[in-house]
Parts: sequence; C-alpha cells; structure tokens
Amino acid sequence: MPISFYSRFRSPHERELIEDCLMGPMASDGDCAARVQGLFQSRLHTNLPFLTPSCTHALELALGVLHLKSGDEVILPSYNFPSAGNAVLLAGGTPVLCDVDPDTQNLDIDDMQRRITPRTRAVITVHYGAVSCDMDRLVRLANETGLILIEDAAQAVGAFYKGRHLGTIGDFGAYSFHSTKNISCGEGGALTCAEKYRQQAELYRECGTNRSGYLRGESGRYAWTSRGSSLILSEWCACLLYAQLLSLEEITSRRLELCEAYRQALLPLEESGRLRLMSVPPDCSPNGHLFYVRFDGPGTLGRVQNRLHSQGIDARTHYVPLHMSPMGHALGYRDDDLPASRRAYETLLRLPVHPNLSVGEAQQVAQVLAHAL
Ligand SMILES: *Cc1c(COP(=O)(O)O)cnc(C)c1O
Repeated sequence: MPISFYSRFRSPHERELIEDCLMGPMASDGDCAARVQGLFQSRLHTNLPFLTPSCTHALELALGVLHLKSGDEVILPSYNFPSAGNAVLLAGGTPVLCDVDPDTQNLDIDDMQRRITPRTRAVITVHYGAVSCDMDRLVRLANETGLILIEDAAQAVGAFYKGRHLGTIGDFGAYSFHSTKNISCGEGGALTCAEKYRQQAELYRECGTNRSGYLRGESGRYAWTSRGSSLILSEWCACLLYAQLLSLEEITSRRLELCEAYRQALLPLEESGRLRLMSVPPDCSPNGHLFYVRFDGPGTLGRVQNRLHSQGIDARTHYVPLHMSPMGHALGYRDDDLPASRRAYETLLRLPVHPNLSVGEAQQVAQVLAHAL
C-alpha cells in the first residue's frame, strides 16, 4: 500500500454544515465566518481574527497596514515559503533575509539582530513545524528596538509557546488553511492583530472601504477611504473551516501520536549518530504539523528518499531557501550567504504525517528508513 505524504481530514460535520450553508445567502463574513471567529477567540484565545483567502493574503494585509516607505526593511528567515518575502515587496519594502537556528530551522535571533539597521521596521518570524523560536527574547528585542513583530503562524493552529497560542504573541499573526495544513478549507487564512491596527486592517481588507463601519451604522456613506484590496474569505470556505475546527483536538492528537511513533522508532538511530530527529524545545507544544529527520549530507538524504519512494512512501524535502532561489539571487544574495538555511535545504526530510495514517504505518516508514541508512 502506498503511503501518501498528505491526506485531508474528513470532518463528520462538513456535509450537514455545507447543506445548511447552501440554503443561506452566502454573503461573506456571514454566520459561518462568525462561528470560525468565535472558535478562534474562545478556544485559541486570539483576538477577533480577520478571515482571508489564504495566509499569503493575511501577510499582505499585515504588511499593507504598516505604510512602509521605499527602502524600509523587514527581516525574515531564508528557510521559508515565499509569501512573507512577497508581502514585503508588494507593500513597497525591502526583504532582508536572515539565517535560521540549526536546531529548529526558525529565525536565528542573533543573526537577525546583526541585520537590524536604522531602516528596519519589522521582523517576520516563521514557526517552522509549529515550533517557535525563543519568543520571550524576540518580543523583548522587538520592544527595545521599536520593531513590529509579525508571526507567520501558517502551520501553527493549535500550537503553543509557554501556554500562549502561536500567532497571538506578536503584533500580527497569520494562519493558513491551505489543503496541506492541519486545518484546511482548500484555500484560506486568518490574521490576528494588535488592537491599534484593527481599524486600518478592516478598511484595507474590504477594498479600502468603510463597509464594515457603514454596516455597523458608524457612517452614513459607504466609500473608498484608504488603500486596500479584497482579502475576504468566502462564506463557503468559512463553512468548511468551521467543520474542521470542530475537530481540532482530534486532528492535533492524531498527528502528535504519529510524531511520537516516529520519535520512538527512530530514537536508536539518533543515539547512534546516524540521523537527527526534529527537535522540540521545552517551552514549545507543537501540533504535529510535520515531523522531520536530518541527515549528514545531501547524499544520504537522496539515498533514503529514493528508497522510501521505491517502497511507495512519499517523504519530502522542504523549502529551497529564499536566498538560494532565483528571486533571492536577484535581490543580491549568494548561495553560501546563509549556511544554516542551506544546510536545512540539503539535509532535511519530512516524513508522512496526516490524520488518515496509522501508527503501524508510521512504524513501517521508520523501518524502511532505518534499512536505507
Ligand atoms: C503554507 C505556508 C504559507 C502559505 O499559506 P497559504 O495559505 O497557502 O497562502 C506561508 N508561510 C508558511 C510558513 C507556510 O507553511
């Protein structure tokens, strides 16, 4: 039996909720959206989130309200998906890439600090695998230097740092509900923000109009008031999202169980120095979004990945670091500028984790991997 890398969780609630939604007006920010927002507030203790068509759009919304000027810099880790870098560019700023911590593949705070200049306005931290960096230190540094802190929490719904939900610690937090994420409605996202940005984000998200304020009766006219775009999640997607969120605990616990099975099965290989397991610092409670191993070099990685593939097991590497991509080169970076990001690209392999995978299958994957080494 082939073992797929990813498979969608099928919520027992989705059919019924979708039929209800079909009967409704389908207007955006309707009942389903309100239910999703309510769950985020009550279960994950976020501020009232803005639902967006994707995490990419959520990041664009965050950067869009910062009023960056040409030459303003935003620091972000190179080992990352391009969304955050694009958001900076689209908002008129300059993305500045920093390296990652080789233990967690998260922003390396020391390296980030060295890249702060008088033009730096914000920092975007990515919670890779729903594990965060030392957020206490990053928040302190951001406060001391006057930087705005944005969390790319795309992978982190249901994950915590010292008991605080990821995405609620900085000034902004962006989540993804893409089909590959723990909670998914095909395409979707959300942005939480500090209260002082709320009004501007509301205007920006609704084509730069005061639509929401007008509907609340705060203004007599519905008009164009600022720069913006249409960054609203459809009610249809919000409905699916609500159905999925009702099963958040179940999804998270099944995934964590698989990660634990991998850890148990592969621990002897780590102890004998053959590979390294994904590390989870003591302050972090991830959500089982992914599980990875690190090899000594690209040769071993390629050999193991080929062996797994030959057995029908889909295991995957991850990001081409932004600084090594054609766009990174165009921004002036060279491949050996950020060595830990490069190393993650060359030596990290993600194993299948999804709610339709059994612990027995995970153990089988681990066995094939062990034989391939
Ligand atoms: C998935 C992901 C994104 C993009 O999310 P979309 O919802 O597909 O736009 C951005 N950043 C990270 C770290 C991701 O994992």
